[in-house]
Amino acid sequence: GRVIFSGIQPTGIPHLGNYLGALREWVRIQNTASEQDKLLFSVVDMHAITVKQDSADLRRYRREMMASLLAVGLDPLKSLVFTQGKVHQHAELMWILSCTASMGYLSRMTQWKSKMGLGTDASPFESTADPKSREALKLGLFSYPVLQAADILLYGTTHVPVGEDQAQHLEFTRQLALGFNAAYGRTILTPPETILAPAKRVMSLTDPTKKMSKSDENPNSRILITDSKSDIEMKIMKKALTDSIEGVTYDRQARPGVSNLIDIMYYMDESVAASPEELAKDMANVSMRALKEKVAETVNRTLEPIRTRYNLIMKDEQRRPFLQDHNEVAASAAKSIAKKRLRNINSVIGMGTLQ
Ligand code: ATP
Ligand code: MG
Repeated sequence: GRVIFSGIQPTGIPHLGNYLGALREWVRIQNTASEQDKLLFSVVDMHAITVKQDSADLRRYRREMMASLLAVGLDPLKSLVFTQGKVHQHAELMWILSCTASMGYLSRMTQWKSKMGLGTDASPFESTADPKSREALKLGLFSYPVLQAADILLYGTTHVPVGEDQAQHLEFTRQLALGFNAAYGRTILTPPETILAPAKRVMSLTDPTKKMSKSDENPNSRILITDSKSDIEMKIMKKALTDSIEGVTYDRQARPGVSNLIDIMYYMDESVAASPEELAKDMANVSMRALKEKVAETVNRTLEPIRTRYNLIMKDEQRRPFLQDHNEVAASAAKSIAKKRLRNINSVIGMGTLQ
């Protein structure tokens, strides 16, 4: 059977990019999986603290993320849905992998640069335009891809469904696994395959040259899966940046804003057309206002059942907290898989038992 693992950071309520690029795929995979497949989906809270978090917010975000994952359709009877920090083996394997991961490779990864607002050619070794940036770069943010590799390799994961922004980290994970196997002369770690959703990169509404993100400082740049009809209308009708070219055409380079709206509408409800290009052709002579109305309507219609489930879950949780209990059960099942694999890994490298 396959082993599917993926994670999402508790840095806010999931948005359309998270939903189309990751969460909806997780649910699809879950609902078409065979009895032999193992499914693990983690709220990766250890990743969230690589940037500064307010502790009260983080606690709430963690709870809201668990509720969001259930609201989109993950089923605790089919999938292990748990917070990463409860399974300490993630940190243990990270240390082992840190001892073979190279600083050079990590320094070429783009995520720490973008989270620090640095250009893609920034280096942790050379003084950059801002001489303080080397001091400001935290070890955890820099080595984040090693923890992500540990998350994946800990379960013998064969497939990782993620958005396009994570493809680079998955390649790093494969290289780390292959390097480790070569160093110990044993096939002990499994290089995982990436599964990319068709909507692999949803763009920000307010700056469609950037990806939609939970941590973008502008809340109007993203639509949350729990947004009300009027929030959705406001963000799409009033805040989404388009252009002044007449008519609707699909061209992600020349018309990023319009094309992003077309993509969002198409991927939210694939029954509206055969492809984003076809959808744009159908809308060729429509005004920008009419296009936005249609997009908002489609988004609202698709999110409505998720929003309703989310509100029900949160209401139940208030009456009688159950997310915590649910997490304990799933984390302890994940832990038993993790422990077995770590025993093998430790034995290969000469750690663990004295015999
Ligand atoms: P943060 O800004 O805190 O990093 P995020 O929005 O990037 O939040 P993550 O928790 O880092 O979300 O990623 C969760 C999953 O969602 C990953 O698989 C990631 O590839 C995917 N994802 C994130 N943003 C997008 C997007 N704009 N389009 C498609 N997939 C996305
Ligand atoms: Mg991210």
